[in-house]
Amino acid sequence: STLEDTLLAAIRTIPDYPKPGILFRDITTLLGNARAFRRAVDELVHPYAGQKVDKIAGIEARGFILGGAVAHQLSAGFVPIRKKGKLPHETVRVAYSLEYGLDEMEMHKDGVAPGEKVILIDDLIATGGTAEAAVKLLRQIGADIIAACFVIDLPDLGGRAKLEALGVPVHVLIDFE
Ligand code: IMP
Repeated sequence: STLEDTLLAAIRTIPDYPKPGILFRDITTLLGNARAFRRAVDELVHPYAGQKVDKIAGIEARGFILGGAVAHQLSAGFVPIRKKGKLPHETVRVAYSLEYGLDEMEMHKDGVAPGEKVILIDDLIATGGTAEAAVKLLRQIGADIIAACFVIDLPDLGGRAKLEALGVPVHVLIDFE
């Protein structure tokens, strides 16, 4: 079957989560499906195979799972981007807006060396606010972001366009209207 069919069939949609009117795209079912998980990771890796990639930056928490697998496949290092207060060493921090109020995310200052080639990974891009904050953090420490990759894009919410406007190439496996 096609990539799209395999991934679509493996992603679960939960209505009214986390609040009424939201259709939550749940990738835990994809992660639990051996064939779909492998397929998704293979497709995330494919454009970068044979290229020099120093680090995969994964966004907490599902970006850690996908990013770890992608880092292994590309023989790259992995660097976590986390909610504030979770990292033990010196960090850089950025504030970003959520639907209700502000939050902050952090990464270790020495997580990426200036000029290193980095791929940013998360499960899903919606408004792009989370990924945009991660791009700002990575650029603060001088990373060369070669792409941002997501299993799912919700194109109606404009996140992809927001990242592309920042000069970050975006790679997604499937769209949900
Ligand atoms: P954004 O900042 O609006 O682009 O939202 C993306 C962030 O929220 C990512 O870290 C996603 O993991 C999470 N997110 C938003 N909507 C969903 C969803 O339907 N399923 C899974 N994660 C979601």
